Amino acid sequence: MSDLTPLKNLLVEPKHIVITTHHKPDGDAMGSSLGLYNYLVQKGHYVRVITPTDYPTFLQWLPNNPEVIIFTEKPEESKELIAKAELIFCLDFNSLSRINDLGDLVRDAKGKKVMIDHHLEPEGFDDFRHWTINACSTAQLVYDFIVNIMDEKDVINKDVATCLYTGIMTDSGSFRFPTTTAEVHRIVAELITCGAENSKIHQLVYDNFSENRLRFLGHCLLNKLEVFPEFNSAIIVISKKELEKYQISTGDTEGIVNYALSINGIRLAVMIIERPDKVKLSLRSTGDFPANEICKKYFNGGGHRNAAGGSSDDTVDVVREKFNTILPEYKALLIQ
Ligand code: 5GP
Ligand code: MN
Repeated sequence: MSDLTPLKNLLVEPKHIVITTHHKPDGDAMGSSLGLYNYLVQKGHYVRVITPTDYPTFLQWLPNNPEVIIFTEKPEESKELIAKAELIFCLDFNSLSRINDLGDLVRDAKGKKVMIDHHLEPEGFDDFRHWTINACSTAQLVYDFIVNIMDEKDVINKDVATCLYTGIMTDSGSFRFPTTTAEVHRIVAELITCGAENSKIHQLVYDNFSENRLRFLGHCLLNKLEVFPEFNSAIIVISKKELEKYQISTGDTEGIVNYALSINGIRLAVMIIERPDKVKLSLRSTGDFPANEICKKYFNGGGHRNAAGGSSDDTVDVVREKFNTILPEYKALLIQ
């Protein structure tokens, strides 16, 4: 981690601050961003959260969500705020390509860039970083930043705690991925003490789907799941037509790939979705199988070892067929 003392000194006086996060933000992206927002506004800073794109309705209840600006909806206001910002916090990503058109604006902005992130291989656009791949979530790192860098645990109120709990909960697979250490449980216990209503948060995030989404899940599992026992792998392919039929919106496909991984013995689960602009892939794996390596090598992507993603300009059928050679290539690792 870099020396953050100069950053701490900058934060002594009120500053104009922008917080941004990756496109199609997930629970950790929004939880960490709004967690940091709710902390910084209490300190008297002028803060706005700008997301590159919209995000799921099951995250729109987070405390002070109405303060978030979506770049695609308000590009001019976003540009002005970024130009004026003295500090730009970049949360849950470490490569500017992850924030679409905001990338150029952030790169050229005069404000100091602060990266708080837990993904591999930072690109290096930042002036300050609070980064490690050993954190279960960026929300965990925001907690660590507030408590151990800023020495301000007492500023964690119910709103901050609620947002950070949501980030940690979603990115740790509800506290079950290997990154969920004893320390993570200690942090989560502190957040509950600070006011996070854990049971209510689980309900707001996970029991908040439309009927269509549940039926779509049924369709994926019954009709679309292909299982390859000889490779301990499973693949789900979804076409644009199916997304339209079930009126699938942002966030509705999230988490479906994990169901494939819940089959006994499956080490690799792949979900291939034909989005309007390109084909998007989500990979999940168990143990030390490197899902991110496949995404990096074949699909312009990356991510974590057990949760990775990428995209392709090929047709959905071509992308699916690529796995006819990728699975045999990785067979030795898959059948370990
Ligand atoms: P998801 O499958 O939920 O979209 O993404 C899982 C993880 O994979 C994300 O947390 C992110 O680290 C990574 N990821 C997803 N899509 C991409 C991509 O297009 N490029 C890169 N570098 N990483 C991605
Ligand atoms: Mn994350």
